[in-house]
Amino acid sequence: MVLELDQVTKRFGSFTAVNQLSLTIPEKEMFGFLGANGAGKTTTFRMILGLLDASEGKISWDGKPINYKTSSMIGYLPEERGLYPKLKVREQIVYLARLRGMQKQAALKELDYWLNRFKVKEYADKKIEELSKGNQQKIQFIAAVIHKPKLLILDEPFSGLDPVNVEQLKEAVVELKNTGTTIVFASHRMEHVEEMCELICIMHKGSPVVHGSLKEIKRSFGKKNLVIHAD
Ligand code: ATP
Repeated sequence: MVLELDQVTKRFGSFTAVNQLSLTIPEKEMFGFLGANGAGKTTTFRMILGLLDASEGKISWDGKPINYKTSSMIGYLPEERGLYPKLKVREQIVYLARLRGMQKQAALKELDYWLNRFKVKEYADKKIEELSKGNQQKIQFIAAVIHKPKLLILDEPFSGLDPVNVEQLKEAVVELKNTGTTIVFASHRMEHVEEMCELICIMHKGSPVVHGSLKEIKRSFGKKNLVIHAD
């Protein structure tokens, strides 16, 4: 078992953003977080990343508390875009890779793989701001996976993208899952989670409504109720 959340709560003042969330995310799985705006998905991710401390509860990785060493094994694609518009793609990725302790040559090799994979090799020397939204998201994705993380956290990775870009990114996510990366993935949209994840957690106003195998949840609750909670 890779990642465990045990009765995790996050309060901002008197407001509870995440309430007593307990989950086990097994190794090499793709785990889907579903919930409307404000459900607490991003706050949960920030706690897993060690960017926020939990007010209560424990988060552990292979039985050990999350710390700066484990967080370097995590890749994160945030919901809000975090690239420097004036940097060129190669400069941006190498900069982020070096921050994670990678050698420049290893970063360039990995970047080359992904640019070819997405058929965007010609953009290596373009500034981020010159790229379309879909291509910027591919670069953001490459930034999240350049150091070959064991756990990849994707916060609404398909938000605002056209269907072609969604499909290309989905294929890349599935490729990483098939090569053994554990993936945690948030979405407002049932169909994305349904297509990609066997295990899910549905959150509503900070509380986990239900979690477990999607097939079993559908059997017990019926699809209609799931969609109501999801959006
Ligand atoms: P979205 O898809 O809109 O990002 P989400 O499920 O990721 O939704 P969160 O971003 O985790 O939800 O937010 C959960 C709740 O916590 C929201 O009501 C939000 O306003 C609140 N919240 C998040 N961060 C803070 C903060 N730093 N201070 C106060 N409230 C916060």
